[in-house]
This record gives sequence, C-alpha cells and structure tokens, in this order.
Amino acid sequence: METVLLRTIKRTLLWASVALGTAVLSLCALITWPEPLFAFSHGSGKIVVASDRPIPPGGGDRFLRDCERLLDRSPLKAEGRQYRLYVANDNWRQRLLFVPQPDAWGFAWYYGFGGHAFMSGADFDSGRVVHWGYIGTPPRTLAYLCAHELTHVIASEHIGLDRFHVPQWAWEGLPDYVAIENRETFEQLHDALGDQPVDIPVRVKYGSYPRYRLLVTYFIENKGWSVDRLLQARLTEDEATEVMRADEKR
Ligand SMILES: [Zn+2]
Repeated sequence: METVLLRTIKRTLLWASVALGTAVLSLCALITWPEPLFAFSHGSGKIVVASDRPIPPGGGDRFLRDCERLLDRSPLKAEGRQYRLYVANDNWRQRLLFVPQPDAWGFAWYYGFGGHAFMSGADFDSGRVVHWGYIGTPPRTLAYLCAHELTHVIASEHIGLDRFHVPQWAWEGLPDYVAIENRETFEQLHDALGDQPVDIPVRVKYGSYPRYRLLVTYFIENKGWSVDRLLQARLTEDEATEVMRADEKR
C-alpha cells in the first residue's frame, strides 16, 4: 500500500516538474522569439516595433523617430544593428509575456547575445502608453518607455553579465536620464525634489525614478563620469547620495 502511494507521489512530482519545465522553456522561447505572437510590425531602421494590433503608419513613424532621437542623445551608444520592441495590447499576451514583472509598463529581456524590449498597450496616434485601461501621461510617454527599455538592452549588450552587479539607482537612473524628453538640469531636479518622498504625484510629474535620475545626472554632468564609470560604480544608493550631499556642503 505504502509503496503504491509513494510511487503515485513520485509520478505526480515527476509530471509536475515536466509540466513546469515545459512552461518555463516555452516562455523562454517566446521571449527570445516573440514574432509568432505579433502579427504587425513597422519600421526597418535602427528600431523595429511589432504589435498584436495594426500600427497606424503616421503614429508609428513618429514614435520610432522620437524614440531614436531620445536614444541618440544617450551617453551610451547603441552597438547593435537593430533593436526590436514588442507591444502587447491584449490582456492575455501582456500577462503571459510580463510574467517576470506583471505590473510593469515595459520590461527588457536580455539573453546573452541580444535582447528585446516589451511594452504593455500603446496608442501610437497620441504617443501614450495604455496599461490596463490607464493612459500614461508625459513625461512617461510611449517614446520615453521605448528609449528607457532599449537603454536597458543596450546597457546589457555593453557590459554583459556585469549588469547584475550594477546598483539599482544606476541601472534605472541611466535609462530614465536618457529617455526623459525634457531633461532637467541637476539643480532644477534637485530643487524640485528637495527632501520630499517619491510618492505618486512626484512620479506623475517627474517620472518613475526621479531620485535615481538625480544621482545619475549628478555623476554624469557634475562629476564628469563616463557611462562606463557609472555602470562600474558599486556605490549603494545611500553611499551615492552621501557623495552628492558632501559636495553640496562644500
Ligand atoms: Zn527600467
């Protein structure tokens, strides 16, 4: 009796791991080769955008132009020939592909020899992100999200596995610094943020990562750091803030 029970448990566990393994492998396959899920695509230059819904040519062109323009002013030059970005408007696609980060508006996936960026819904004509019925407002526009996520891919190509050692403030601050349309100077952002907490109203006005962007602006513009130095810095957010504060007191 016991042996039968044990055998059943073993068999169930085996099948459960096979099922889980298959699900994980399928997801990995979809993330590295998402084409079958996206019937429409636009562009043939540096950036190609694919979507599960038709892309209006006018809005699509403007979006690609705006995203490229933001990336062009990045201190980190794109080394790849072409970058692909996928827009998942349909809920099930969004839920499937955003499993690693279900609430995110976008995320970047890097798998060692390339990477793709994903975005939840898009309205190309207005240049706005549409996430679960919520329409994003500037500064977090569609072009912002595109440039932000692609900067993650470009940074991953540049430093490879070292990306896992880059502190969060630099890892998110750099894409934010690149992608924000009206980039504030260090003084403007510093004065605007003061010591207030980064709550929803602050995020609506200054984007997702204003404090990280403040630090990145400080190190790049005030300290003259190269982007390599920034990505190799291993300062925690508190340590980086300390350096910035010490400079203020001088
Ligand atoms: Zn990010």
